[in-house]
Amino acid sequence: EEAAAKEEEKPKELRSPICVVLGHVDAGKTKLLDKIRQTNVQEGEAGGITQQIGATYFPIDAIQQKAEKLALDSGFEFKVPGLLIIDTPGHESFSNLRSRGSSLCNIAILVVDILSGLEAQTRESIGLLRQRKTPFVVALNKVDRLYGWKSTPGGAIRDSFAIQPKSTMQEFDDRLRRVMGQLAEEGLNSKMYYENESFARNVSIVPTSAMTGEGIPDLLYLVLKLTQERMTKNLMYLSEIEATVLEVKVVEGLGTTVDVILSNGILKEGDRIVLCGMSGPIVTSIRALLTPQPMREIRVKSPYVHHKQVKAAMGVKISANNLDGAIAGSRLLVVGPDDDEDELREEVMEDLAQLMASIDRSGVGVCVQASTLGSLEALMTYLKQMKIPVSGFNLGTVHKKDVTRASVMLERSREYAQILAFDVKVDREAELEADSLGVRIFKADVIYHLFDAFKQYMDGILEQKRKDQAPQAIFPCVLRIVPGAVFNKRNPIVVGVDVVEGQLRVGTPLAAVTGPTSSIVLIGKVTSIELNHKARDVVKKGEPAVAIKIESASYEAPKLIGRHFLEKDTIISAITRQSIDVLKDSFRNDVSKDEWATIVKLKKLLSIS
Ligand code: GDP
Repeated sequence: EEAAAKEEEKPKELRSPICVVLGHVDAGKTKLLDKIRQTNVQEGEAGGITQQIGATYFPIDAIQQKAEKLALDSGFEFKVPGLLIIDTPGHESFSNLRSRGSSLCNIAILVVDILSGLEAQTRESIGLLRQRKTPFVVALNKVDRLYGWKSTPGGAIRDSFAIQPKSTMQEFDDRLRRVMGQLAEEGLNSKMYYENESFARNVSIVPTSAMTGEGIPDLLYLVLKLTQERMTKNLMYLSEIEATVLEVKVVEGLGTTVDVILSNGILKEGDRIVLCGMSGPIVTSIRALLTPQPMREIRVKSPYVHHKQVKAAMGVKISANNLDGAIAGSRLLVVGPDDDEDELREEVMEDLAQLMASIDRSGVGVCVQASTLGSLEALMTYLKQMKIPVSGFNLGTVHKKDVTRASVMLERSREYAQILAFDVKVDREAELEADSLGVRIFKADVIYHLFDAFKQYMDGILEQKRKDQAPQAIFPCVLRIVPGAVFNKRNPIVVGVDVVEGQLRVGTPLAAVTGPTSSIVLIGKVTSIELNHKARDVVKKGEPAVAIKIESASYEAPKLIGRHFLEKDTIISAITRQSIDVLKDSFRNDVSKDEWATIVKLKKLLSIS
């Protein structure tokens, strides 16, 4: 027991948190990342800041030096060894930092342009962050663009505020309030970071300028404080390996390599690894673990430093055989001495299998294409929410064969002969093929935009279909002739009727249910409806009686009231199997629940199977 207590006391080793930058295009993500790296270098604080593969590592000393500019709460203490910031901003990187559906990204910086407020991709990013339950801070960027801004390069934001003209601060406050309102619309409470007393309840806002570097000390401090307070457990160093493929790249002299973020554990040269490939699991051995040469070492032959082993958190390039079909976003598993390799092969393919399982069973639906497993997953999740069926997917550039696959829908369900291409290129041949076959390709790099384009297209198709099918649509109704209201007994029949069930429309063919055996007598089509001497196209159950004219088709012998059927007989719309299908297909929203029940009744009367 004593030993256990001692164990408790021993400070657990923490690893560096992993941070991703997200936000709308042009919000300043790239610039902000550059500035964070560069100001450190310029100010002679480069010590220990290392360029890794796909990420930059900031040791805690470098961040601490920056944070000294802030008037910190004295109790605060940095506990993690540093911060790993992913170099490529955007939802792509974020989506790919994943493991078993949870995020390997520990914290995100959501960049918002103070002049533009929340935009489409900002909202989409918030959606992704929510989905993965990733804590984040908002960098309210480009404060230097406020009118009259006086800048203090690299300064703490409250020092900058202190020297701004009143009108500039007024503008800042107005714009801050607007952004806070927009965040509230997304269901997020927010506070200026130094006024935020509950990270759990409120999102922190840090004003920044990626141009002047103002607010960057605040931002780095906040990111570390937040990770430490909210997720120390997730930052415990584990011996179990957790790694994910950020990018698959062909490098001259090395062939296909994978750029990996190792978020936990140790990777060694020679380790046997298992990855997810488009056509099955990939098992291979690590030939080399590589990171870039430090900036000044341009004389050395290789652009890379080789490592015998690397320890999390770390961005590293892996060179190995057989990496050709590897998928970005794939987990990377290491075969340990006690592991069953077959089990790992199965495990690593689970993500793809899960996506396969979300494909519509009917085989009818759109094809989707995305650049990586992570973004494909995000897109599929979204389409599922929007109830858009998917019949197939693929990763990477859209090629001719993808168009061929989508073209199968042309015969099965024409409107779904589409490829929703998210953040990928479409090659020329594929474009030509799509044009000639009539397959549509929707391209976008915001999921929402893809959906909007799709929705608009589908609405157009539905409208056209309704127009085309309108003549075949027969709405259900049950009518009774108002006693004594037979104005003309023979063609055209003119009578007063009550709509007892359903709806009566001009164009509806009518039949009488007559005689002891309830035989069906087709009467003709309704050619006009009048209510109080005013023409109507539709009358529904519950409205007053109407006068209608029924004309028989020229090829039919006209029917006579009193001979072929009687005034007291029930009159119904002569629906058919086909007309029911048309209603189901294109007019579903125009038929009420009661009316569907009437259809069931009419089907019996008309002996429709
Ligand atoms: P990204 O698309 O989010 O990566 O945006 P960029 O980093 O490429 O920035 C878009 C444009 O805004 C570039 O012209 C930047 O120079 C500019 N920009 C970014 N941040 C700031 C800032 O804080 N202040 C000013 N004045 N311009 C900025």
